[in-house]
Amino acid sequence: MMLDDKDRIFKNLYGFHDWGLAGARARGAWDGTKAILEKGRDAIINEVKASGLRGRGGAGFPTGLKWSFMPKESKDGRPSYLVVNADESEPGTCKDREILRHDPHLLIEGCLIAGFAMGAVAAYIYVRGEFVRERERLQAAIDQAYEARLIGKNNIHGYDFDIYVHHGAGAYICGEETALLESLEGKKGMPRLKPPFPANVGLYGCPTTVNNVESIAVVPDIMRRGAAWFSSIGRPNNTGTKLFCISGHVNRPCNVEEAMGITFRELIERHAGGIRGGWDNLLAVIPGGSSVPCLPAEQCLGDLYMDFDTLRNLKSGLGTAAVIVMDKSTDIVRAIARISYFYKHESCGQCTPCREGTGWMWRVLSRMAEGRAQKREIDMLLEVTTQVEGHTICALGDAAAWPIQGLIRHFRHEIERRIDEYAANPHPEPVAMAAE
Ligand code: SF4
Repeated sequence: MMLDDKDRIFKNLYGFHDWGLAGARARGAWDGTKAILEKGRDAIINEVKASGLRGRGGAGFPTGLKWSFMPKESKDGRPSYLVVNADESEPGTCKDREILRHDPHLLIEGCLIAGFAMGAVAAYIYVRGEFVRERERLQAAIDQAYEARLIGKNNIHGYDFDIYVHHGAGAYICGEETALLESLEGKKGMPRLKPPFPANVGLYGCPTTVNNVESIAVVPDIMRRGAAWFSSIGRPNNTGTKLFCISGHVNRPCNVEEAMGITFRELIERHAGGIRGGWDNLLAVIPGGSSVPCLPAEQCLGDLYMDFDTLRNLKSGLGTAAVIVMDKSTDIVRAIARISYFYKHESCGQCTPCREGTGWMWRVLSRMAEGRAQKREIDMLLEVTTQVEGHTICALGDAAAWPIQGLIRHFRHEIERRIDEYAANPHPEPVAMAAE
């Protein structure tokens, strides 16, 4: 199961062609957009539902269903908004930035169609603080769209719609949808307690849907080519094309658009030039960005389908499809400890389990990376991860817990080996792990 070139949505993923309006039009963007809007709001939502599109930001929630939670019409005069999450910060993930800088018109057209479908008056695109050039490129493309009267007041599509770009300040937590809304409103980027959910009380207290860049950018193609085309790619319940970001110990790290559900081996062999040192040298894979549990090599060698359901059944996840490959040169305990440090650093501090737990887990794991621990502490660490997971306001607590759970599930023997080694030969001066 591999993607045909004719089925690609992102035809300028690598920036070889013109990113601007003329280039985008030549690749098919803005073609028949008016006719798409004329189908009506319900028809668009039903088409997106039928396509099986699941959110590309990590959670995999059905996009059409999410749109249908928006009020059909405003009963109290509040406007509705579409917010696009371009705060791409999950370590290993680098797909949305390629859309922003090389194919921004797909996103802009998608905003108009999605915004129309949910009755939104405007879209706010929240761009990650570090994405300076990407923001400039996106703004230039939006200016082109205004100039050509594709969006804005009295545009040629007959639906008044504005698009605003907001530049974040570079905090990972602002990728959480309610923290993003707080930040957009000019407050500290701290997640909100839910309910109420954004579809009822979102941006400025108005109904809001927050979608990932890739989720919105694929919508125009779904509407042009039809739900049946999109759902014919991939596997049941895991349909369509997907941008994979392949990094780590492969011969050619890359971003690539592939069919959802391609096997891990095909993905790596076909696009990344294989594992560094050959397949026997594979140690583990983090298949969906740093927050998902790693999988050991033996689970990745057979028919490992890269899709939401298969990876969830293996107690991992597709997440953002940021595939981080680790060969046998990797110090896996230290690698996961480094990821723990990241989540400790990015915790907003609102909830005690996350604020205290992320630091505690990082410190224990750092000792374990050196073997300076007791074996009973492994179960204690595992227990603490379960006390953080599911007990916090937002999913950052889960994101901090899962990589450690994956490590203990698959590499407990490695932690124990280090503890034994250290016990046999304790270093007089422990080598403290640097707070990178
Ligand atoms: Fe903040 Fe962590 Fe609580 Fe999320 S889980 S709201 S990041 S303290």
